[in-house]
Amino acid sequence: MDKCSFCGRTKKEANMLVAGLEGHICDHCIEQAHSIMNEELGNKKNIAFDSINLLKPTEIKNFLDQYVIGQDMAKKIISVAVYNHYKRLMQKPDAEDIEIEKSNIILVGETGTGKTLLARTVAKMLHVPFTIVDATVLTEAGYVGEDIESLLTRLLQNADYDVKAAEKGIVFIDEIDKIARKGDNPSITRDVSGEGVQQGLLKLLEGSIVNVPPQGGRKHPEQKMIPVDTKNILFICGGAFEGIQKKIAQRLNTQIIGFGASKIRDKVDKDNLLQYIAPQDLRAYGLIPEIIGRLPVLTHLNRLDRTALRAILTEPKNALVKQYIKLFRMDNIDLTFAEGVLDYIVDKAIEFKLGARGLRSICETIMLDAMFEMPSADTNELEISIDYASLKLERINLKILKAS
Ligand code: ADP
Repeated sequence: MDKCSFCGRTKKEANMLVAGLEGHICDHCIEQAHSIMNEELGNKKNIAFDSINLLKPTEIKNFLDQYVIGQDMAKKIISVAVYNHYKRLMQKPDAEDIEIEKSNIILVGETGTGKTLLARTVAKMLHVPFTIVDATVLTEAGYVGEDIESLLTRLLQNADYDVKAAEKGIVFIDEIDKIARKGDNPSITRDVSGEGVQQGLLKLLEGSIVNVPPQGGRKHPEQKMIPVDTKNILFICGGAFEGIQKKIAQRLNTQIIGFGASKIRDKVDKDNLLQYIAPQDLRAYGLIPEIIGRLPVLTHLNRLDRTALRAILTEPKNALVKQYIKLFRMDNIDLTFAEGVLDYIVDKAIEFKLGARGLRSICETIMLDAMFEMPSADTNELEISIDYASLKLERINLKILKAS
């Protein structure tokens, strides 16, 4: 009689018996074998992560250099923070009992200076689950908007619901400045998207087990929650903190009083006050001290100047110009840019204060017709001249791009 070669169940006792060359296996044993396999492979995955050959800070910065132009200070600080964070993950309990604390990061800089790009590049380098969330959609539990826990839903989704992997991932929280406390007295009017959200966020940042709704959105009694430990998740927050320069200036002014004050004051670079940013300024802006304490690595990003914008077009590994050339090459077309065209694009981005993000919209506008027509045209060369570029740009109002 046919029976399972592993457990001995007969055909009657099992739901199913699968025949092999010299034996059989029942559905019970298939399931068991499957779970053993998953467990083994899962463990291996962790071991692989634990023994990950983590790049040294200088190597991390070299990697970031390939994708992000300028922002040297931010890159250096992030390289050290990421290195320490992952060293902390690999630490074995030792006799000294020194615990390395988490180094969550906060990046302050105008929009389009590369905050998201930096966070994204770090995640790419580490091969860990990564997600970007917008702080503006978060509200206190019970109010319209998303619960704080939903922050982790997307991380889980990006990790294919592998909780262990998600627990070592990176979350980029954009527009953290938008949940700053409005006004000095929050208790008079309820500040559901301000201090309440900061309090909620605190729990995540400091590391705790959070019940995450797997499908996101509101917590729903029927939805089965997935517990996620945030202890080892690296949080990188970014914000433009518009107007924070005023707070920095105020602090610098009150600090620089007394003997030799004018000498020091002269040394302050008033055009780039962001470089002097300190935790107190974030507090003056409306972040609660506990949150600031949980974001110990604070750094700023500089406004991108003409040289940086020009470099962004051609230098990063996946620079815009390289992408267009590649796209056209796939149609056997040699795309070139006449001298001065790239400077012209940069000029337009600066003229309309579009920043780095505008470079892309400008290029898309210039290239659209060519991308539409060339694949079916009988030619294998295309040179973009200044005249061609300005003709294409003429038909749109560049101010519109600013809003996008
Ligand atoms: P932020 O998060 O600061 O608002 P992003 O990182 O989203 O800005 O930047 C928008 C786009 O502009 C990026 O996708 C990238 O193409 C480009 N960019 C911005 N800053 C840089 C930079 N420093 N180096 C290279 N590209 C940049």
